[in-house]
Order: sequence, then C-alpha cells, then structure tokens
Amino acid sequence: MIVIGAGPAGSTAAREISSLGWEVLLLDKSRFPRDKPCGGGVTIRTDELLPFSLDPVIEDVVYGAHLRLRDNQIITRHTSKPITYMTQRTRLDSFLVEHAQKSGVDFRDGVAVDRVRRLSQNKFEVTDRHGDKYTSSILIGADGANGIVSKNLGYENPIERAVAIEGNMPFPNGIPEEYKGMVGLNFGLVKGGYGWIFPKEDHLNIGIGGWKINVGHSLRSDLAKLCEVYGFDFSKLEQIRGHHLPLIRPGTLVSAGGSAVIGDAAGFVDPLSGEGIYGAIASAVSIAPAVNSFLQGQSNALDDYHFSITDSIIPDIEKSRALMEIFHVLPDPFVWLLQHSNRFWDPAGSLIRGETTYSEIVNRFGQILGSSLIPISKFAQLLTGRKEQLRSPDCQ
Ligand SMILES: Cc1cc2nc3c(=O)[nH]c(=O)nc-3n(C[C@H](O)[C@H](O)[C@H](O)COP(=O)(O)OP(=O)(O)OC[C@H]3O[C@@H](n4cnc5c(N)ncnc54)[C@H](O)[C@@H]3O)c2cc1C
Repeated sequence: MIVIGAGPAGSTAAREISSLGWEVLLLDKSRFPRDKPCGGGVTIRTDELLPFSLDPVIEDVVYGAHLRLRDNQIITRHTSKPITYMTQRTRLDSFLVEHAQKSGVDFRDGVAVDRVRRLSQNKFEVTDRHGDKYTSSILIGADGANGIVSKNLGYENPIERAVAIEGNMPFPNGIPEEYKGMVGLNFGLVKGGYGWIFPKEDHLNIGIGGWKINVGHSLRSDLAKLCEVYGFDFSKLEQIRGHHLPLIRPGTLVSAGGSAVIGDAAGFVDPLSGEGIYGAIASAVSIAPAVNSFLQGQSNALDDYHFSITDSIIPDIEKSRALMEIFHVLPDPFVWLLQHSNRFWDPAGSLIRGETTYSEIVNRFGQILGSSLIPISKFAQLLTGRKEQLRSPDCQ
C-alpha cells in the first residue's frame, strides 16, 4: 500500500500499518528533515496515542498561560499538571518518520507526486514528477491542506478555510523567564481568531490564526500588531510563514473503496484551538484496523475508518466549531471567565490534556443548552459575517 505525505498523519499511518505486518511505501515531496508552518504545540492527548514517548523532541512543557484580552492587563493562570508540550516540526516529523522506518516502512523523500488515478475500485496508480509510476491496492492521502489525492480521486472538498501565520523570535541566550513553561494567549486583538506565544528552547514562536474571511487579508499586519502589544520587535521575527487550516464539514466522506484521506488532507483541525497534529495522528491510528481488515480480505473498502471517524473525531469538531463561532462574536466574557473562574479554567485545561471532550463539556451544561448550541452558533455566524465565506468560491 502507498501513503502520500510524511507529516504526522502519514508517518503514523505508515508505522501503524507496517507494524501489523504489511508492506508500506511512504512518499513525501520534501527532503527530510523538513519544516512546516506550525506553532509546534503537541498536546498530551496526542502523545498518548503513540506507542513511544515524544520526550526526545520536546523543548518545553507547559504548566500555565498568560491570558490577555486585546492589550488589556495580562492575567496568569497555572495548572498542577502539564497542559501541553512544545516541539518544532522539523524535529517532530523526522522523529515520527524514523519510528516508521524502524517498523519497516519504505520511506522515500524528495518524491513529489504529480498525479493519482483509480484504475479500478481497489487499484491505484501514483505518478511522480519524473514520470515514475507506483501501483497499490490501498492509497492513503496524507498530503496536507493542499493535497492532490483528495482532488485527483474526486473527494468532495467542502473544506472551510481558516488561516494561520507564525514566526520565530530568537533568544539565543534563553527565552524570557516569564515564558518558560508558559504560553501567551491573546484574544480579541485579531477578529475571529487568536494570537499565541509559544516557548521553545532558544526562541519564542509567535503567531495568529482565524477564519480566512476575517484575518486572511491582514495576517502579516495582525502579527505585527501582536508583537507590538507584547513589546517584541516585529522586524526581528524570523521565518514568517502562513498556511491554511482545513476544517472538515460534518457529512464529508473521508474514504472511498481502498482509498482514504487523513489529517489535514481530510480537514481534521480543531476549529477553536487550531490544533491539527492530534487530528492527524488520531485519524492515522483509526485507519490502521480498517486497512488490516481490508488486506485480510474481511472487507472490500475502508468504510470502517469513515464510521470510526464519524463517531469519534467529527462530533467533537462540530462542537468545537459551534463554540468557536459563539466565542468570537464576543470574546470578552469568555476570556474574563477563563482568567478569573476555575469553573472555566480547569475544564479548559482538561480539554487540552484530553481528559474530557467538547461533547462532554457541552453535555455538562444540560440538554437545553446542548441542543441549542448549533442554532446559536449559526446566529453567531451571521453576526460575524461568516455566511459570506460559506458562499465564497474559495471554499468550494
Ligand atoms: C501557522 C500554523 C500553526 C499551527 N500550529 C499548530 C500547533 O501548534 N499545534 C497543532 O496541533 N497544530 C498546529 N497547526 C496545524 C498543523 O500544522 C497541521 O494540522 C498538521 O501539520 C497536519 O498534519 P498532516 O500530517 O495531516 O499534514 P502535513 O504536516 O501538512 O504533512 C503533509 C505532507 O505531505 C507532503 N506532500 C504534500 N503534497 C505532496 C505531494 N504532491 N507529493 C508528495 N508529498 C506531498 C508534504 O511535503 C508534507 O510533508 C498549525 C498550522 C499552521 C498553518
């Protein structure tokens, strides 16, 4: 079988499937080690999905946040348990690929796939930029936000677009003390999104993200504004890069016959937080049993993967999207509650750690609020003008 794309989704799927005894070819257009626009925040729930520890590539462990609304006073909150880990994608992605290779995956970097064709229900042909062809009975698209597998195989692409941009502020002699083990989060400065400051070994990663319709036209200037508000010299920010954050809409197919899309290629980014590494790895882990039963002749399609995603990841993405829509209409009261109330701050920490889910949190507020969440969020969409984005050709 072939996996296209060796980000967290592709390398994890390849490793899981190879560990079950199957031959896997993993192709990536980039030469590894390669970097990718990303804040490099890896949650504990993500680490827990892996059969090995991410310790060798963790640069900091986060125990709290400096929470700020626009340029108001910063309120610092701590937690007793770690909330999330910090890494760099160059290191994380190479580490995951190394583990895939150790489990027997045939990894070939610098192979840009140009075209993918379905020859029959379960036979695929992959052609690279040099015209070399590869065939397989299973094809997994893990080729990210602008992947070609989904386009070439005719997957519906009703993905809504969020965008994010980030850069690194170097601190060769060590990052400022107040950011060690702490993240900075800013709400309200960027309309329809948020800003972050993430601690790394020798730099701070500073970024913003939000709906394309709200921030797409002003990403760079918003990032500059964020730096200014925190007293960082924007002209010193290095490696500034932006990228899409693809968000799946419920009901979209993620597998057809012997093919499937995982990670960003399917749009498994958490709308509220922008966390995508979890969705990448969780979808990769979910696909392995479906591939196994297909290759053992127990099924003739990867439908089990689609159903498992529909039961697990999708409901939470739906709740997260609804909460995001509501949050961004009027962030002020929510940020105040996060800053001052343990009843909000503690569940937020549990959510990021993976101890609870969006669905569980929404259910805690009772049936009435639970069932009105989606209608309220639709109303919020109208207020923020996001209905326009749903109609824009860019989202087709
Ligand atoms: C600015 C920004 C900040 C972010 N910060 C965070 C964060 O802090 N934490 C978090 O969890 N998520 C974050 N995300 C989201 C996260 O980066 C993605 O969700 C995650 O990388 C998805 O992993 P993936 O394996 O699906 O895709 P990718 O990591 O994008 O990997 C896709 C791979 O496919 C390869 N590829 C593409 N096309 C081809 C082709 N034609 N042929 C061969 N190979 C191909 C690419 O080279 C790439 O290696 C951020 C995103 C952005 C844009």
